[in-house]
Amino acid sequence: MGKWEGFFSNETKGLKSSEIRDLLKLTEGKNVISFAGGLPDPSTFPVEDIKKITDEILETKSSSALQYTATAGVAELRKQLVSFSGLRGITGISENNVFVSVGSQEALFILFNVLVDPGDNVIVEKPTYLTALNVLRTRKPQFHGVTVTDKGPDLHALESQLKKLKSEGKRIKLMYVIPTAQNPAGTTMYLDDRKYLMELASSYDFLVVEDDAYGFLVFEGDNPPPLKALDKEGRVIYLGTFSKILSPGLRLGWIVADEEIIREVELFKQNVDLHTPSLNQFIAAEAIRRGVIQSNLPKTKALYKQKRDYMIQAMDKYFPSVVKRTKPVGGMFVFTWLPEKFNTTQLLQEAMLKGVAYVPGNSFYYDYSGANTMRINFSFPSKEEIEKGIEILGNLIKSKL
Ligand code: PMP
Repeated sequence: MGKWEGFFSNETKGLKSSEIRDLLKLTEGKNVISFAGGLPDPSTFPVEDIKKITDEILETKSSSALQYTATAGVAELRKQLVSFSGLRGITGISENNVFVSVGSQEALFILFNVLVDPGDNVIVEKPTYLTALNVLRTRKPQFHGVTVTDKGPDLHALESQLKKLKSEGKRIKLMYVIPTAQNPAGTTMYLDDRKYLMELASSYDFLVVEDDAYGFLVFEGDNPPPLKALDKEGRVIYLGTFSKILSPGLRLGWIVADEEIIREVELFKQNVDLHTPSLNQFIAAEAIRRGVIQSNLPKTKALYKQKRDYMIQAMDKYFPSVVKRTKPVGGMFVFTWLPEKFNTTQLLQEAMLKGVAYVPGNSFYYDYSGANTMRINFSFPSKEEIEKGIEILGNLIKSKL
């Protein structure tokens, strides 16, 4: 027990440091090839444009850019986000439907706090984004999982679950879903499935929290419209982020939702941090207005597609054929399944000693199943690191077969 532990609230005491995060900290400053993070390739940052924009803002708008601003966000950015959302097919919205957050992570934190009470029934994909899961866990809901196939969540299985829950008199509050270039699976739902999911949400009356973190980063195949674009009832709460398309260090995300939901989020955020940094919001608004993000995207997508190709070529060369993997159509990750007897959390320590790190997949399952899975990032490592790291990992797996 630490010296001050007796002072911590019961809720804080319940927070556990992720074993993995602690382990991965050991890679810092060491010569370890990391497939663990979710970092964009820094060569995609439009540094010169950001520099120019920042200089101009400080020259012409410093009195507002360095000042406190509205909790829901700088008006200019909310306005730009209305038109930017149009690029994803989301139309018929106004600034009042848009809310700016400190990354989409803060949006997840606020939303799950304003929507989920302990014991509420929530649906999540298996696997799904681990930090969303961790926030949800603090709300102590009743989780229900829906398996992700190579075409996104298995909606027939979901429908059966919904029927069963209804027959037991249980109400579903919400589903958290990443329909496009899913993290960690990299899969994308077909348009028909998106429509089917919206029908289910409507007939079983639950909210959909749609995380579109990689919606602008689909580099192969179709990129169907997000669920929000198909939403006729206002039940989809859409989350976007500048982290993967401009810079994660600016910490900017946004929500598109019904005004009543935006208002509730706003009341909560007032108590969290008053507002998202003003200067960063002005920078993002200008980056959209000048088309910096839009013109940078093709280059970023081409780079990630190339890195995805390096990654799967290396996996096909060095991994034994018993290892199954996804072929992501966007985003930053490949998800893999080792034979059942493997425990990737245990394997990580050995992998790190040999100079390579990844995220064990069980963190992406609400019930910590998936012990034989791992998530591998391809956006950050170089081509050489991908080749070398996958060779090391492949040899390690083969030695344990
Ligand atoms: N959602 C998903 C699916 C993510 O992968 C991430 C970042 N890895 C986030 C949300 C949070 O990103 P940010 O807070 O930087 O917007």
